[in-house]
This record gives sequence, structure tokens and C-alpha cells, in this order.
Amino acid sequence: MNFYDYDKLLEEAYEQLPEVMKKTSRFDVPEVNVFFEGNKTVLRNFSQVAKALNRDEKHLQKFLTKELGAYSLVSGDRLVFNKKLFGKKIGEAVKRYISEYVLCPQCGKPDTRFSTLEGVKILKCEACGAWKPLKSI
Ligand SMILES: [Zn+2]
Repeated sequence: MNFYDYDKLLEEAYEQLPEVMKKTSRFDVPEVNVFFEGNKTVLRNFSQVAKALNRDEKHLQKFLTKELGAYSLVSGDRLVFNKKLFGKKIGEAVKRYISEYVLCPQCGKPDTRFSTLEGVKILKCEACGAWKPLKSI
């Protein structure tokens, strides 16, 4: 195998990574782990996901509740929705949360935090200093 082929292989492997993972290897978000309990859906690793995103559980919960149109309750490390939701749907909502409330709009890094600027809530990047107004949920 020559170098060209090796590069091509790497490129192909890279293409197959989810968008979020391409940004930085340090940003390791666990896949949502979901199971049904009667008519409810339990997101088993809710705390773990919030921690990986470095975001407040309440904020993430509020977003998911609205995005998925399902009432939810935190139970220990889990989040319990009052209806059946497929893991894929929850995973997609988490991805939307990441692009809206975690990744820097400028450099794409996850090194951001919530802040305020003249009374306006913003998402501020610690890496490059860029910011954007936070959409309220
Ligand atoms: Zn940035």
C-alpha cells in the first residue's frame, strides 16, 4: 500500500464519522441508551450525556421535552419520558442540542459555556472567543 492509498483510507474512515465527532476527538458524547418501560421511555444515560456535553441537566431536559413533545421526569441518572420514543429520535434531538447549545458557531469546538453579555444570554467559546445569542427554549 502506498501513502496515497493510506491517506484515502483515512479520508474514507473520517467521512464515516458522525459530524459531531469530526470536530474534535476530545469531545466524546455517549450514544443515547434507551429502553421502554410500559408506555414510557427511559433514557438510561441522561446524566452521562449531560456531563459529556458539560451542560446543566435541567437545560438539556427542557430542550428534549420540547423537541420530542413529551413530558419528562429526572429519576436519578435517568430521564423518563411519558411516551414511547425511539432511541434514534432522542439521539437526533441530542445532536440538535449539541449544534445549537454546545458547539462554537465559529471554530466548531465544544469548549463553550453559557454567559451573559449586557443582559443577553450567550454561548461563548473559550477557545476562540466567538459568541452567539442563546436561543431560549
Ligand atoms: Zn470557537
